[in-house]
Amino acid sequence: MTEFSMELNDDQKTLQEWVHGFAQNVMRPAAHEWDEREETPWPIIEEAAKIGIYGIDFFANAMADKSGISLMLILEELAWGDAGICMALMGTTLGVAAILANGTPAQQMEWIPQCFGTPDDIKLAAFAVSEPDAGSDVSSLRTRAIYDAATDEWVLNGTKTWISNGGIANVHVVVASVDPELGSRGQASFVVPDGTRGIRMGQKFKKMGIRASHTAEVVLEDCRVPGSCLLGGKEKLDEKLALVREGKKASSQAAMATFEASRPSVGAQALGIARAAYEYSLDYAKERKQFGRAIIENQAIAFKLADMKMHIDAARLLVWRASWMAASRKPFLNGEGSMSKLYAGETAVKVTEEAIQILGGYGYVREYPVERWHRDSKIYTIFEGTSEIQRLIISRAISGVHIR
Ligand SMILES: Cc1cc2nc3c(=O)[nH]c(=O)nc-3n(C[C@H](O)[C@H](O)[C@H](O)COP(=O)(O)OP(=O)(O)OC[C@H]3O[C@@H](n4cnc5c(N)ncnc54)[C@H](O)[C@@H]3O)c2cc1C
Repeated sequence: MTEFSMELNDDQKTLQEWVHGFAQNVMRPAAHEWDEREETPWPIIEEAAKIGIYGIDFFANAMADKSGISLMLILEELAWGDAGICMALMGTTLGVAAILANGTPAQQMEWIPQCFGTPDDIKLAAFAVSEPDAGSDVSSLRTRAIYDAATDEWVLNGTKTWISNGGIANVHVVVASVDPELGSRGQASFVVPDGTRGIRMGQKFKKMGIRASHTAEVVLEDCRVPGSCLLGGKEKLDEKLALVREGKKASSQAAMATFEASRPSVGAQALGIARAAYEYSLDYAKERKQFGRAIIENQAIAFKLADMKMHIDAARLLVWRASWMAASRKPFLNGEGSMSKLYAGETAVKVTEEAIQILGGYGYVREYPVERWHRDSKIYTIFEGTSEIQRLIISRAISGVHIR
């Protein structure tokens, strides 16, 4: 019988320390600059690729951990270093996750290496689902994919919005509707390879937080991709559509399969921001003196820190559980993936706000990192499913009732 243990193994500890070193020595010192510049931090991505923190091997090794914990450790440390740079490094994995969730083994072999490139020739990927009129409601996507049998090509038309790495990625994975009458069950995912005509960046957004991560519209105008770019293949899609049209349940929805798998990863990033703010404000509270004593000697401050630590630890347990369940192929019967993302995201917002309070005026100005952490944290209650949508998923899962 396997013993239960919460202790990290030696490999996991080594990995955690190594990534922490990069976060501390490379990301932290660069964080303020790239937040101000609001640009993709290429020199940091290059540095990460050079030492092996950005690339297919790194990702594959992390995914090979059967406990599911390694990737969570990496993401917590990177977001501890800086959440914006972390997203710039990890935005690619959204596209990769979509290929893993929906692609055939041959498609995975072909496309995933192209998402990362090599240290000498770095590539990025993006995952494009959201549209101006279809955010939480992914069933109402307007982007259309029409099959041209004469050339064995798919023709994509539509506008995607809020896309991380959108328009600058080398590989875009686009979710489009093949049969709009079938809602989300009539959708499929397509790889748009580098250099394809008919795909371009629309407006780039100026954001509140994670500003080192590029977010933009992606416009598809008669964008033609080979038939082989349909993830999963046409035969499988035709079978699925036939089942849905007969009123039978088809296996998966293209976008949802990807989000489900990636939720603990998003939670792990939120956790990293929360931990950064907690550690900083704990140190500060011990040093800052008012009324002749350290402010931590007041329960009003010490109890905040106690709560912050408790919520962070609870969030980590939920993230690790969900990740372990996903890696062990245990179904999320109670919305455990959503729980981890929801709790960690809301914890990050709360903890970073409390950190500002503990620093007082120093927490509110840009000379100190705490206000940035609060700005960075807020996206974790919005993207990859808002907090409200996570609550819907959990409440539907536990009740079996179609709660609206
Ligand atoms: C920085 C950033 C990066 C992003 N990266 C990507 C990306 O790489 N790829 C991608 O495809 N998308 C991406 N997104 C999009 C993101 O996933 C969406 O913004 C998110 O899903 C919410 O959609 P929306 O903004 O249209 O809000 P809406 O869906 O319009 O929601 C507005 C409000 O209504 C609430 N609401 C909606 N429906 C319900 C309901 N049924 N019950 C209760 N409340 C409800 C929501 O919770 C929210 O509070 C990104 C967004 C941002 C800001």
